[in-house]
Amino acid sequence: MPARFNRILLKLSGEALMGPGQFGIDPDTVASMAAEVKAAKEAGFELCLVIGGGNIFRGMAGAAKGMDRAQADYMGMLATVMNALAVQNALEQMGVETRVQSAIKMDQVCEPVIRRRAERHLAKGRVVIFAAGVGSPYFTTDTGAALRAAEMKCNALFKGTSVDGVYSADPKKVKDAKRFDTIGFDRVLAEDLKIMDAAAVALCRDNDIPIVVFNIRQPGNLAKVLAGEGVATVVQ
Ligand code: UDP
Repeated sequence: MPARFNRILLKLSGEALMGPGQFGIDPDTVASMAAEVKAAKEAGFELCLVIGGGNIFRGMAGAAKGMDRAQADYMGMLATVMNALAVQNALEQMGVETRVQSAIKMDQVCEPVIRRRAERHLAKGRVVIFAAGVGSPYFTTDTGAALRAAEMKCNALFKGTSVDGVYSADPKKVKDAKRFDTIGFDRVLAEDLKIMDAAAVALCRDNDIPIVVFNIRQPGNLAKVLAGEGVATVVQ
């Protein structure tokens, strides 16, 4: 893949911070994610980050146990703020300047989402971490990532996963599943290939933002894929 991106939005699910456990935030794992971001930054890319909250709380899971969905979703959004602060901490311990902007205002903790201010941060070489998704229940951080990628005019949305791209079937279950180098948005939607939720994929399609699906668990891989050397699938 050619190095055609200058500004990217990196979406990590909450699970990417979980480490060997089944829940919560593992500091060593957070540090390894931060190292990926630092390497990409040092290679000259501008980075926006969106981090999910599934390692702590998902609204759907709360609703399935009888909670009011919107209430549960607000808890999920707060979980994403905790994750954003954890990643901010890890990055700053590595000397990378960052700002967190939350879609739910919490002035004592971080900035609110202000696009022009985020632009300024990027211009100053800071990594901007967008928290709380779109700030409304019934959405996901995937959709939040697509929205911020569009708003910030990112050249691509990088979706860090535990596999190295989009496959015709789950490669962890189906032995001869085929990996695509590129694939169209419409096929991803029509075949319901679960890369991101449909609203996020449609938002990227409508705004012409390619989604790059790659393995974030392989050390050094983000910088490699950004340099056009790694293995990934580009949804375009
Ligand atoms: N959430 C929400 N609105 C948003 C983003 C997130 O209500 O715009 C809630 C929702 O309950 C979701 C939870 O926050 O389940 C955590 O986000 P997500 O499931 O996207 O995290 P990930 O799967 O990426 O870890």
